[in-house]
Amino acid sequence: MSDATAKKEERRKFQAIRGTRDLLPPETELWNRVEQTAHEVFATFGFGEIRLPIFELTELFTRAVGGETDVVAKEMYSFIDRAVPDIDRASGQVFSREVLYAGGDAFARYVDRFEGFLDRLKSAYETGEIPSNDANRAGIERLEKYRATAREKIQWGEFPASPEAVADYAAAAFAFVQGMQLGYPLALRPEATASVCRAYIEHGMQSLPQPVKLYYTGPMFRRERPQKGRYRQFYQIGAEILGGTDAPAIDAEVIEMLMTFFDKVGLQGATLYINSIGHNAENCRRGYVATLKSALEKVKDQLGPDSQRRIDTNPLRVLDSKLESEQPIIATLPHIADHLCDECKTHYSAAKRQLELRGVLYQENWRLVRGLDYYMRTTFEITAPGLGSQNAVCGGGRYDGLVELLGGPPTKGIGFAIGEDRLILSLQESGKGQTQQGRDVYIAWMGERAYAAAIRAARDLRNAGFSVELPPVEQKFGKALSQADKLGAKYALILGDNEVSEALWTLKTLSTGEQQKFPEPELIDFLRNQKSQS
Ligand code: AMP
Repeated sequence: MSDATAKKEERRKFQAIRGTRDLLPPETELWNRVEQTAHEVFATFGFGEIRLPIFELTELFTRAVGGETDVVAKEMYSFIDRAVPDIDRASGQVFSREVLYAGGDAFARYVDRFEGFLDRLKSAYETGEIPSNDANRAGIERLEKYRATAREKIQWGEFPASPEAVADYAAAAFAFVQGMQLGYPLALRPEATASVCRAYIEHGMQSLPQPVKLYYTGPMFRRERPQKGRYRQFYQIGAEILGGTDAPAIDAEVIEMLMTFFDKVGLQGATLYINSIGHNAENCRRGYVATLKSALEKVKDQLGPDSQRRIDTNPLRVLDSKLESEQPIIATLPHIADHLCDECKTHYSAAKRQLELRGVLYQENWRLVRGLDYYMRTTFEITAPGLGSQNAVCGGGRYDGLVELLGGPPTKGIGFAIGEDRLILSLQESGKGQTQQGRDVYIAWMGERAYAAAIRAARDLRNAGFSVELPPVEQKFGKALSQADKLGAKYALILGDNEVSEALWTLKTLSTGEQQKFPEPELIDFLRNQKSQS
């Protein structure tokens, strides 16, 4: 292979992993603007920011998102962590060959070491440093028996006859250790609601004034098939309201906040869809699901394989289907609105009235459902133009049972997650994603005296909030000005011998070519005035 080919291969090897991407300037400026708007708008609604870990126990997501959902069953990046460092190290050392072959009373010394290891394992098991599960319970039991036999052998002077016999002995014990799971199963978070609820419980937030209003921003991970608007590392901006009442005004206010945010970032053509999915009771959603299921059974042979499977596993999810051929059939299915219990009905109409009070426009969509038991009543989704098939920029809903499901007290909850990647795409498509590129001022300097003035000017301008480019080496003015143009600078500050000796600095407006002279202290004032007018 030629050097050039090898280099090319190397370059190809180190590319961002499929489904992940680099976000580069100037686009990142738009991302910052969007996030800054979220900070500002959410703060005006009394929300505080929570920063969460990127990975959690896999079980948190299995429990909260549901083990049968695609997100958890198929798309999660999960791994078994290593054991805590001393156990990880010891599990290799205790059984290492050099001890086993050391001769003399090697066996007794080996058993001592092994016992130390076993005691450490047991205490780690009790304190939760290693997972509490069947494999570990069984492993510790087996190792205990092994310890008892070894001690007996030593007591009766029955040492293994050869180093090989000691090695066999140790290998048996090591096999028990290998059958254990010394590290926790962890997963990169596929969403953040579960983490927020975990944090609410972990930090005893139920004793704070309720409700607790939290928001977050950050990357989520799902092993989906990448396409436009769908990534394996994508970003969400989300908010949750936990505790207090489930008054419909809460549902409406969280939606109002969301629409205010979309409005402030300049998202155009956003449509809000809402629905109520009742609650998990016989006289409400469960009754509906039974009715839906029998209706689906009747049309089963007209449905695709995914929907056919869902009739048994999760009939509500059939309503999510985007399959063209299924649409006319789905249109004939019973609606949940006709099956809500009185309380859920009242809650839904009140939530709609509360939205109207706030001037929030909505459309009802009876097919908007969530497949998990703890989701209840209000669900909503926002779509935006310019996104193709992945046109949902936000999903949300009420989930009153979730905190309890994770071991906390019964707690009301509602929240949403905005897909930031899609929001950005939609802003760009509609021309609202322009970012201000370039520098305010490029300092074109020549000569040593001018350079000292240039350094001072750069510092003062930057302190005043202007973005400044100070070339590190001297350039001819012509070259400096063309460089300033390339960088999209608004002004070139020209500093040469004349300027320094006259103490009058030349400022060139690059769009018009106009040049003006200013005494040093007036320059910043002039630029400030220009900025405030633009
Ligand atoms: P969910 O957590 O599934 O309710 O998703 C909330 C929002 O996150 C969706 O409406 C999308 O805008 C966004 N989203 C979900 N999955 C992805 C993904 N793989 N890539 C980009 N955005 C996503």
